[in-house]
Amino acid sequence: MTLVKTPPPLSQDVDLSKTYDAVIVGSGAAGGMAAHVLTEQGMDVLLLEAGKKLPIEQELRSMQWPYDHPRRGDAPPGYHSLSFNEYTIRTPPYAKGSTFKHVMSYVGGWGGSDYVKNILVDEKDHPYTGTKYAWVRARALGGKTNIWGRLALRLSDYDFKGKTHDGYGDDWPISYADIEPYYDRVDRYLGISGVKENLPHLPDSLFQRPNKLSFGEVKLRESLKKMGRVLTPYRAGVTTDGLKHNKYRSKCYGRGACDRRPGGCDIHAAFDSPTGLIYPAMDTGHLTIRTNSIAHEVLVDPNSGKARGVAFVDSGTRKSYEAKAKVVIVGASTLESARLLLLSRSPQHPNGIGNSSGHVGHNFCEHVMGPGVTGLVKDLVGKPPTLDDGRPGGFYIPRFRNLKDRQPGFVRGYGFEGSGGFSIFPGNAFGTPGFGAQFKKDVRDHAGAFIGMGGFGEVLSRYENYVDLDPDAKDAWGIPTLRFHYQFGDNEKKMCEDMVVAGREMLEAAGIEVVGTDEKMLTEGWSIHELGTARMGSDPKTSVLNQFQQSHDVKNLFVVDGSSHVSASCQNPTWTIMALAWRSCEYLAGEFKKGNL
Ligand SMILES: Cc1cc2nc3c(=O)[nH]c(=O)nc-3n(C[C@H](O)[C@H](O)[C@H](O)COP(=O)(O)OP(=O)(O)OC[C@H]3O[C@@H](n4cnc5c(N)ncnc54)[C@H](O)[C@@H]3O)c2cc1C
Ligand code: SF4
Repeated sequence: MTLVKTPPPLSQDVDLSKTYDAVIVGSGAAGGMAAHVLTEQGMDVLLLEAGKKLPIEQELRSMQWPYDHPRRGDAPPGYHSLSFNEYTIRTPPYAKGSTFKHVMSYVGGWGGSDYVKNILVDEKDHPYTGTKYAWVRARALGGKTNIWGRLALRLSDYDFKGKTHDGYGDDWPISYADIEPYYDRVDRYLGISGVKENLPHLPDSLFQRPNKLSFGEVKLRESLKKMGRVLTPYRAGVTTDGLKHNKYRSKCYGRGACDRRPGGCDIHAAFDSPTGLIYPAMDTGHLTIRTNSIAHEVLVDPNSGKARGVAFVDSGTRKSYEAKAKVVIVGASTLESARLLLLSRSPQHPNGIGNSSGHVGHNFCEHVMGPGVTGLVKDLVGKPPTLDDGRPGGFYIPRFRNLKDRQPGFVRGYGFEGSGGFSIFPGNAFGTPGFGAQFKKDVRDHAGAFIGMGGFGEVLSRYENYVDLDPDAKDAWGIPTLRFHYQFGDNEKKMCEDMVVAGREMLEAAGIEVVGTDEKMLTEGWSIHELGTARMGSDPKTSVLNQFQQSHDVKNLFVVDGSSHVSASCQNPTWTIMALAWRSCEYLAGEFKKGNL
């Protein structure tokens, strides 16, 4: 058994008198990868993280059974997780006027808000305004990677060259061949489990041992083959065989805890940025970290117009500081990065740094979700229990629409995430009629027989979907908040209708009885896959960054998170965020050494 090693100590007393080679804003997937690559290249790096360093194992408590928790995982009185109805009926700021002391996003309501109450932001301190949007934020060392869902997928040229394929939007300035070596490096360095399928639209990774499919999932996989579709074991950003080069992580024990709660793995088999990237980077001796440091402006040299550092406020003391650096790397996540660029106004950059195109905040895209189906595998009714959820995920059905075919109602596609079999709590108990011994028998007999899946579809990148700064609203530190101007369109609605039809068709073809369908789209933002607010491109008039995520306007400014994505694809973005960041930071280090920045 590998014992997880104690992380290196962090100190708030960082030397701000010196000029670092690079300052990174944010410590999630993007910022963590930048720290890894730049420190490996020998650069002297300061990382600013707005959140705290949490004793994360004590927060996640992966081995705790529900009945060992005094409130079955719920947060203490005074905490509230926003519900679908609140997001639907109201507009942001959602916590305004709430009688609860603390308000969290809906993710807090997923089977255990006590485990994420210190990871998710308190909406009272972090308001935003504008159109409806379920914005999930994690302010802690590692950001959202502490609790992410682990589905780790590659994009393909159907995504990078989407316009060439169907005429919509813009192609990316890179193709799959450019990023493939970096996907490989991410796979090897962080570990990923899955099965090779040889699909052109969902390239394979360098997989470690896959998770097993349950009986119902195998049944569906076999049936889908006849339809020319694929069901593959969840491609989890989890090391199932272990990583000899990383002493902070352990291989997956298959306890399923990450899938039962809002995510998180306290032995770090599932990737998270601190143990996967940041602690190893600290061990190089080239990384300094300052937590509780909220960046609010990229500072500019008035003579050259180049970035000269970052202004930040300490979240605890509220004191202001400046960090000086030769290169600035923004990786605060798609929306926070756009906010920071827009906040960084100067005579040289009056619309915000890197925003001469006016595209910062625009072309905002993500995934639409909500529609799905639930089926009953009759052969499994009354069968003895099996440990079906002792794994970090169920299955994935990759996109099958608009590849060779052309759908009449919509462009692009969607995939399904799902799982079948027994789970820690028999969800069917809520819908089973009756009481007493017969009720218990009915619940037990059916508990392992259900299979469910929900679609994740590409939201088209549109200039008119954007965020800007609210001229009046401010967060708890007096920093202007984001204002959303963002809505799903007709393409997303048509795609969602198709998800229900296709989901039903697939279960029925497998002889699985459809016992439930979800038809409604969830609120904008629900997928937690926000992308595109500082997109890459070859034309500085219509894009913010070049193919190396380098600002067209300011050559020593890089934005290495999902804000750079040109389109959303329907595949989950985190593995792509890290592969791109690796590629860009390698380029950055090369240019730095040549004196070109
Ligand atoms: C519950 C959940 C499930 C998910 N499931 C999946 C999945 O299955 N597959 C997938 O690919 N993705 C998934 N995601 C999304 C995934 O977590 C993100 O894509 C990924 O974390 C993005 O990395 P990032 O570095 O851009 O942002 P983050 O991980 O959010 O990190 C950004 C960091 O920047 C910090 N920061 C923000 N503003 C500032 C500032 N002004 N100054 C200093 N620091 C700042 C934040 O505190 C944070 O630590 C999921 C997310 C959640 C929450
Ligand atoms: S199933 Fe694996 S990745 Fe998930 S919590 Fe357990 S050990 Fe961690």
